[in-house]
Amino acid sequence: MLHDADMIAAADGWRTRDLDVLWHPCTQMREHPGVLPLVPIERGEGAWLVGRDGRRYLDAVSSWWTNLFGHAEARIAGAIARQAHTLEQVILAGFSHQPAVELAEKLLAIAPREPGRAPLAKVFYADNGSAGVEVALKMAFHWFRNRGEGKRTRFVALHNGYHGETIGALAVGDIPLYRRVYAPLLAEALFAPSPDSYAAEPGETAADCAERAAEGLRELLERHSGEVCALILEPRVQCAGGMRMHDPRYLRRARDLCDAHGVLLIADEIAVGFGRTGTMFACEGAGIQPDLLCLSKGLTGGFLPLAAVLATQAIYDGFLDDSRERAFLHSHSYTGNPLACAAALASLAIFDTDDVLARNRATAARMAALAASIVELPHVADVRQAGMIVAFELTRDGDRHAPFEPAARIGLRAYRAALEGGVVLRPLGDTLYWMPPYCIDDEQLHLLARVTRDAILEATACA
Ligand SMILES: *Cc1c(COP(=O)(O)O)cnc(C)c1O
Repeated sequence: MLHDADMIAAADGWRTRDLDVLWHPCTQMREHPGVLPLVPIERGEGAWLVGRDGRRYLDAVSSWWTNLFGHAEARIAGAIARQAHTLEQVILAGFSHQPAVELAEKLLAIAPREPGRAPLAKVFYADNGSAGVEVALKMAFHWFRNRGEGKRTRFVALHNGYHGETIGALAVGDIPLYRRVYAPLLAEALFAPSPDSYAAEPGETAADCAERAAEGLRELLERHSGEVCALILEPRVQCAGGMRMHDPRYLRRARDLCDAHGVLLIADEIAVGFGRTGTMFACEGAGIQPDLLCLSKGLTGGFLPLAAVLATQAIYDGFLDDSRERAFLHSHSYTGNPLACAAALASLAIFDTDDVLARNRATAARMAALAASIVELPHVADVRQAGMIVAFELTRDGDRHAPFEPAARIGLRAYRAALEGGVVLRPLGDTLYWMPPYCIDDEQLHLLARVTRDAILEATACA
């Protein structure tokens, strides 16, 4: 048994070794270790991450929104192990395997449906969210090209949207921090107004915001009629854009406008899919079905990278021809990796055996009650929730129109304070949010609320 001092020394050793060799994602490396603590993790247990120094951290952001049922979940781990001893990987061009087929069957069976619309019928695999977005964009363009509509080369995306950070995905994203530097490299997308209810003027409801944004989309599609192949959007919650939420009626309007203009609708449910917003998929909450559906993150329960793009039969049929150039020309070495597919199948089975969506409804209600105590704090504004996602803003005086100076880095202070308190919050700027693994229990929820409260008080004390 190591003593505390030994464990702290061991953690320090890991920090040094890490910073000698690693370049971390989305990080100004100069801030390590001075501004940002680097936290070496030894193992995960349910909603907990256990550090090398023996400290435990509640993973309130589900490890970048990937984890669904807790870390090292035994059923998923077991399925991966069994698969690894059977078939770890095989080329998916010209070959097939059981996990890839069964997962596709399962995904199509649970995919969002809209009465009167032909269902999503085919699954194309990629190996991470951004790659899945690239697949959907290329597929949409190529489908029109195969129909002799090669002039449809443009994509419509929403302001404040996020679809990943590869060059194609970044082109349809609108988060300045990720986009601005690389803008000279990016294809020019068309941006429609965000339906975000955060932008509500006094007296305006979320539904009004949705209507206003839909009008903007209508004008844009009319102006560029015949040039656009697809609209891409994040249904219900623009997650990386600050957990901004919109009224589902926007999605209904967007679906109808796409139909009216012969434009494909790509739903990016990479973050909101698999129960995050309360329903299995966020599109269900609006009663719409996209033409292309992008899934990743929670797809494998948070165990392995995998993406799936679901397409309609009509899109699939548009690629059938004698010519190879009309085939969809896209592949990744690990397309449909058996281990990742096995993890996804095990994860989807848990939704049934544990009645996860019903359990989440109860958990979401508890999160709402706890969030009510946070919103009473003087610097907190605009608490909002969609199922298992709760978010709020840190502002100067509790009015969302009065943000803190970005240089004050209030969100970063809250992050550090929460980490000290044993909770991983990872604010997006000054937006704090909870997006915990579904297994989070009552005691952990109370810890989450208490530490969040203390972290906000500490971060805003000198503001
Ligand atoms: C995370 C995310 C992506 C990108 O997925 P990666 O696996 O990180 O490349 C795309 N779209 C949305 C909505 C996301 O949240």
